[in-house]
Amino acid sequence: MLEDSHYYFNKAADVLGLGDHIREILITPRRVVKVEIVTEDDAGELIHCVGFRTQHNDARGPYKGGLRFHPSMDEDHATALANLMTWKTAIAGVPFGGAKGGIDCDPHTMTKTELNRVTRTFIERIKEIIGPTLDIPAPDVNTNAEVMGWIMDEYSRDYGFSPGVVTGKPVDLFGSLGRAEATGRGVMYAAREALKDQGKSLKDVTVAIQGFGNVGSHAARLIGEQGGKIIAVADHLGAVENKEGLDIPALVTWTAEHGTVNGFAGGGAFNGSDVITWPADLLIPAALEGAITEDNAADVQATLIVEGANGPTTPRANEILLDRGIVTVPDILANAGGVTVSYFEWAQNIQQFRWELDRITGELEKVMVRAYAAVRDVANEKSVDLRTAAFVLGVRRVGRAALARQPIRKTITFD
Ligand code: GLU
Repeated sequence: MLEDSHYYFNKAADVLGLGDHIREILITPRRVVKVEIVTEDDAGELIHCVGFRTQHNDARGPYKGGLRFHPSMDEDHATALANLMTWKTAIAGVPFGGAKGGIDCDPHTMTKTELNRVTRTFIERIKEIIGPTLDIPAPDVNTNAEVMGWIMDEYSRDYGFSPGVVTGKPVDLFGSLGRAEATGRGVMYAAREALKDQGKSLKDVTVAIQGFGNVGSHAARLIGEQGGKIIAVADHLGAVENKEGLDIPALVTWTAEHGTVNGFAGGGAFNGSDVITWPADLLIPAALEGAITEDNAADVQATLIVEGANGPTTPRANEILLDRGIVTVPDILANAGGVTVSYFEWAQNIQQFRWELDRITGELEKVMVRAYAAVRDVANEKSVDLRTAAFVLGVRRVGRAALARQPIRKTITFD
């Protein structure tokens, strides 16, 4: 996965005319931490897993990024995803750097008390390198508000009341209104802005979504509320389609009860891997990385892809899609709504003040509209696709901030 994020970075670095040395400096993480987690399961047997935190770049502010609890989590994933966070926070214009981490465990096989122990042991191991002005974790795949609440509690035991150490907390524990839906809401705004450029609106499109977790389900609901017709949804256990449009609120209720879209009566079942090539106008990959590959890219039928997941498109697939004229709003722009509302949450924690929901959604909309326009302007300026433009913008902002911190004698520009 690291190779993929470097591939996209290098395309942008070519556009910016950056030399090898500066490229190396920009992609190398500042710190990579790997810790052993040993604790007990509920039966008293030992649990053994490994936790990671990569702090990639803090030129624009404290390190920021989620924690993913997934068997595939390793140093390579943490570092690749941390790189993406650095460019993402820069594109959104929020005052953070980039980080990512997690644990190589599967929460689906663990009880809540086991998950709690594993989480707390992890935080105990990394507490010296996180903090409200140092590195601020957040939810990612398989982590949620409840886990963030435990992190705040564990950290605060040692350092005193510290709500700003983590974002995505429960609203009852200094979390922000609107944070849970923020990434999905941002995806909806990104899709709306990209469609506007094509002379269309959300009302005009049919939508296929891969993933019905925090990102996919909220994106589906909000796009549906704007008149978009969600005709296919897949998760890792099943898939459901309906040409007339799925009843998303009913599907959300079903999924909350059953843990999957599988078995939902409001549509027909289909093979989930076909969702990528479903005949829909808009495709939203909102699951894991590597969803659109060289094996299925040639068969994608959507004309617009909006990436809810991080890294869903491999470089080879990306080139195929570009050749075919399919427009992609890349992850580091499309899913930036999550970290944007994380910033609002952190700001509220520091201010010890609560913002109303309409202020949050209003500010989020402004950030997404501004970020999309800035990326599109770079795309026009440099005659490149939106992904390359997003990386150019992110690298440019980070590079300029880094230079502004140091008197570098040799001239380096990020134009
Ligand atoms: N995990 C989310 C992401 O990939 C959110 C990160 C955050 O809020 O810090 O953007």
